[in-house]
Amino acid sequence: MTSPDNHVAVIGAGPAGLMAAEALAHGGVRVTVYDAMPSAGRKLLMAGRGGLNLTHSEPLPQFMARYREAMPNLQSAIEAFPPEALRAWCEALGEPTFVGTSGRVFPKAFKASPLLRAWLRRLDAAGVRFAFRHRWTGWDAEGRLLFQTPGGTSAVAADATVLALGGASWPRLGSDGGWTTLLADKGVEIAPLRPANCGFTVAWSDVFRTRFEGQPLKGIALSFGPHSLRGEATITLAGIEGGAIYALSAELREAVTAKGEAVLHVALRPDVGRAELVKRLSAARGKQSFSNFLRKAAQLPPVAVGLLQEAAIGTGQSLSAMPPQRLAEFINAVPIELTGVAPIARAISSAGGIAFEELDPDFMIRKLPGVFAAGEMLDWEAPTGGYLLQASFATGAAAGRGALRWIARSSF
Ligand SMILES: Cc1cc2nc3c(=O)[nH]c(=O)nc-3n(C[C@H](O)[C@H](O)[C@H](O)COP(=O)(O)OP(=O)(O)OC[C@H]3O[C@@H](n4cnc5c(N)ncnc54)[C@H](O)[C@@H]3O)c2cc1C
Repeated sequence: MTSPDNHVAVIGAGPAGLMAAEALAHGGVRVTVYDAMPSAGRKLLMAGRGGLNLTHSEPLPQFMARYREAMPNLQSAIEAFPPEALRAWCEALGEPTFVGTSGRVFPKAFKASPLLRAWLRRLDAAGVRFAFRHRWTGWDAEGRLLFQTPGGTSAVAADATVLALGGASWPRLGSDGGWTTLLADKGVEIAPLRPANCGFTVAWSDVFRTRFEGQPLKGIALSFGPHSLRGEATITLAGIEGGAIYALSAELREAVTAKGEAVLHVALRPDVGRAELVKRLSAARGKQSFSNFLRKAAQLPPVAVGLLQEAAIGTGQSLSAMPPQRLAEFINAVPIELTGVAPIARAISSAGGIAFEELDPDFMIRKLPGVFAAGEMLDWEAPTGGYLLQASFATGAAAGRGALRWIARSSF
């Protein structure tokens, strides 16, 4: 049996923590959500800046495969709170969703703030209390939770705790991975937090980086080993980032980490057949500069021509000396040498976290009875497309239900 005398501490007011709080409040226990930041859901709000991609509409087996090795560990939580349930949940909060052309699901308002506002109102009405500016720093000798607050250290007794502290990307939004040492000190195995859905560094020449920083390469195809995909990438001062790069980032990160570099190939005109490209590149150049000729003949924007020149120099070749056949090949297989992974602070998400072997099926950390964990702090990664939020919401709900079961068992 659970009762309002039971107090559950949820630490972390992101999507996972708030979902756990909701499940707990429905279960009839007293819930306090603690967060180090002055307000809730800062990363969720940031996620909504370019359109809040809540989940994806593809069939569940395909959807689950996006979680790679972690799929079996997330299966039950996502099946219990699948994408359709998440969409219905949004609708119930007054924020209906729609499926975009790519199959991604967004709230009609597109951004996160109306959804978060409605959700916080509903949690408040359900009796959930919030304690902001409370940084969790571990446990005292009596097993009470310790928080650093503006008024000094505060110790809180809880019948169960849900940790939903996030990963380590965008630390200024609150999740800074500081919890890893607190749990590692208790003997909990944690896979190192690494950038996921991240950019990579490239040793661009000064001329290229200053001229093309921030410019997108649209309608390209990327390939790396057996993986290839269509999309978009953006040149940065230090390298390259963007949707298509993020989608390959797990494989690229592992290769760069293992070997110190990885070579990615970019097709700048993937829709134009080789014969057609050769024909266009065989036309008379006249008085045009080579760059202009290339731009017009292959219909390439200046950033793409710049990239070709940069890559040609890097491989010791001269673009203008290439015969049309070779040039056509080069345009659709431009090598880019990635020299490193961009810092985790700029990544969309993190890989690594609490190893699933440390958790029981209710998301309780076996070595810490009564302490549950959810969200991005667990050892899974997924591409962008709504998979990050879906798993955060679903594991938050599962950890909340798990904590209720734990309390019911303990007070039996
Ligand atoms: C720019 C950007 C865009 C994104 N867009 C999308 C998208 O469109 N779709 C998608 O699916 N995902 C997206 N994501 C990822 C998604 O936002 C995260 O995966 C998700 O927020 C993780 O939820 P969480 O609850 O596990 O952690 P978080 O949202 O990171 O919340 C963790 C909370 O814990 C608190 N905390 C941490 N340490 C402590 C401590 N010691 N004491 C107290 N509190 C602490 C933090 O302040 C924070 O509020 C995006 C991320 C970024 C950065």
